Amino acid sequence: MLRIKNGRVMDPASGMDARRDIWLDGDRIVKVAPQGGGESERAAGESLDASGLIVAPGFVDLHCHLREPGIENSETIETGTRAAARGGFTAVCPMPNTRPVNDSASVTRGILERAAVVASTRVWPIGAASAGSRGESLAEIAAMQQAGIVAVSDDGKPIATARLMRQVMDYCRSLDLPVIDHCEDASLFAGNSMREGRQSVRLGLAGMPAATESIAVARDIQVAELTGCRFHVAHLSARTSLECVRAAKKRGLRVSCEVTPHHFTLTDEDVAYDTHFKMNPPLGSAEDRAALVEGLGDGTVDAIATDHAPHEPASKEVEFDRAPFGVTGFETALALALELVHSGKLPLMRMVELFTTGPARVLGRDRRIAEGQPADLTLFSTEHAWTFRAAESASKSRNTPFDGRAFRGAPMATIVAGRVVYRRNA
Ligand SMILES: [Zn+2]
Ligand SMILES: [Zn+2]
Repeated sequence: MLRIKNGRVMDPASGMDARRDIWLDGDRIVKVAPQGGGESERAAGESLDASGLIVAPGFVDLHCHLREPGIENSETIETGTRAAARGGFTAVCPMPNTRPVNDSASVTRGILERAAVVASTRVWPIGAASAGSRGESLAEIAAMQQAGIVAVSDDGKPIATARLMRQVMDYCRSLDLPVIDHCEDASLFAGNSMREGRQSVRLGLAGMPAATESIAVARDIQVAELTGCRFHVAHLSARTSLECVRAAKKRGLRVSCEVTPHHFTLTDEDVAYDTHFKMNPPLGSAEDRAALVEGLGDGTVDAIATDHAPHEPASKEVEFDRAPFGVTGFETALALALELVHSGKLPLMRMVELFTTGPARVLGRDRRIAEGQPADLTLFSTEHAWTFRAAESASKSRNTPFDGRAFRGAPMATIVAGRVVYRRNA
């Protein structure tokens, strides 16, 4: 038995925000009770003091890249999930763009077998939508679902035609699997490296307009309506895309979206020639950022997802337009979200929801603190002062725009299936 005592328990599913002690037995929550009540300390066995901390359901990251199999010089399931646990995540969903692509049950099983041995967190793989993510024919979606995938996506390679998207969604609706799209109209994208605007002109870098994303979002929503499939927008970055999602939700469609910490924190004004500010979709305008923050607060956005995209240092040490897209994100996600809480832009309970019940609901799953539930918990401080040092990251890669940033608030302990997989030394 492990007792989590003296914490402030915040459970978005029930709305509970109260001082409670939580007892864990094996991989389950067995009791949630007012503090100091009943049970003698002796009978409780081991305990973890959560004084001054928030105790939340285990955080879920809907979108990351663990790079295994095949690109282990950038990340592995072991190092990636260790970084995730340090970020407070108890479950992560790796995208299928590995080598080989996770487009068959055997690759899915390989990932899960490896995770069972080395992962600090739960690993919920996302399978490819098309074979090899080549956008031609469907992947082995039903067989992958049997093997354990939780959604499908060709992340990194947008699904090019409405016709293929319709096939994917028709099929996934019958399996009740959500379809996640990296929304991008490739004809406007053309390999450009940042958002088109004043800053791209100033820097002389080729830019892509926000419509590159929102055209694809609008198309996918219409295909979702046509097929009745659950549809989720990956890393939504533009105001115009958010407005499409808001309107779709109003019409009662099963449409959801996620926003990354870098998109709700930074703008294209932050982009210099530093490749650590290069990701896809690129950083938007100040107006986009304000719209995303509003969407996080009002429920239009369902989840904060990291899109943790590690790249080995050498690959980012090149000219801006030649560098790969992507930044790491596990270890800074919560602290960046807390910046919105501290500045009064996001209520704390809503922030917790965006890391827990929100992403779980996208996958059709439950996440709450109650007897009988899995013992996945994230303990965090809203006040702990610290500075993020990329060199000390648990990730194999260092490509973050937040190296050296001072933060207020941090994950303090991460518990997965009753096991303390990370504990921060104050
Ligand atoms: Zn993507
Ligand atoms: Zn991604």
